[in-house]
Amino acid sequence: MDKVMLITGASRGIGAATALLAAERGYAVGINYRNQREAAEALVRQIESRGGRAVAIAADVASEEDVVRMFRELDQTLGRLDVLVNNAGILETQMRVENMDADRLQRVLAVNVTGSFLCAREALKRMSTRHGGKGGSIINVSSMASRLGSPNEYVDYAAAKGAIDSMTIGLAKEVAAEGVRVNAVRPGLINTEIHASGGEPGRVERLKSGVPLGRGGEPEEVARAILWLASDEASYTTGGFIDVSGGR
Ligand code: NAP
Repeated sequence: MDKVMLITGASRGIGAATALLAAERGYAVGINYRNQREAAEALVRQIESRGGRAVAIAADVASEEDVVRMFRELDQTLGRLDVLVNNAGILETQMRVENMDADRLQRVLAVNVTGSFLCAREALKRMSTRHGGKGGSIINVSSMASRLGSPNEYVDYAAAKGAIDSMTIGLAKEVAAEGVRVNAVRPGLINTEIHASGGEPGRVERLKSGVPLGRGGEPEEVARAILWLASDEASYTTGGFIDVSGGR
C-alpha cells in the first residue's frame, strides 16, 4: 500500500506544490483546504490523471471538530497515515502591534498554532508506536518570520511561527522514541497568494533585492525540502529546521 501524506492548506501555494511532488514520489495524498474546493478538486484530478491517488478534504484546522472529522475521513479513504505536513497558515493585513485587536490575534494564533497542535495530536494517535502505529513524520511549515520578527507587517504572525519552532523542538523530543520524527521548514519570500492576503501582492518584488540569492523562491523549492524531511534520507534528523529562504 502507498505511503500516505496529509497536507493541510494544500489547495494553493506551498501546500499544492507539496501535494504534486508527493504524488510524483509515490505518496497517496490527503489535500486539506478551507474554502477553495474547486482548486483542491482540480489538484486531485491532476494527480489522478498522472496515475496517483489523492482525496480533497475540507476542514478548518482551527476547529477541533473539523480536524477530528478530517482525520476520520482520511482513515476511511486512504486508510493509513505516514506523514503530516502542517502547512495551513494565515496572516492578516499589515499593521503595527499597537493597532492589533484581540479578534485578529485570536484568528492568527488559532490557525497557525492551535491548528498545527490539533493536527499533530490526531496524527500521533495514528503514527506513534505508543498508540500501536508504525511511526512516521511531521513537518511543520514555519517561516523565516520567526527569526526576523516581521516588524511593521505582522509581528503576531511571526510570533505564531516562533511558537511553531518551539513546538517542533519539544514535540520532536517527546515522540522521538515512538518512531515519529518532527521537523520544520522555514520558507522566506515565496511567490504565493499569501502576500496579497496581507494587503501587498507585490511584496516579494519589493523585498527581493534584500535576499542574498536575489530573488523570491518558488513553492516547489519549499516542497523539495519538505519531501526530503519526510523521506528515509532524513532518518537521523528530528527537531531540525531547513531554512528555504535564499540566504535571508
Ligand atoms: P497561501 O497561498 O495563502 O495558501 C494558504 C493555504 O492554506 C490555502 O490552501 C488555504 O485554503 C489554506 N488555509 C488557510 N487557512 C486555513 C484553515 N483555517 N484551515 C485549513 N486550511 C487553511 O499560503 P502559502 O504562501 O502557500 O503558505 C503556506 C504556508 O507557508 C503557511 O503556513 C505560511 O505561513 C508559510 N509561509 C509562506 C511564506 C511565503 O512567502 N509564501 C513564507 C514563509 C512561510 P483555501 O485555499 O481553501 O483558502
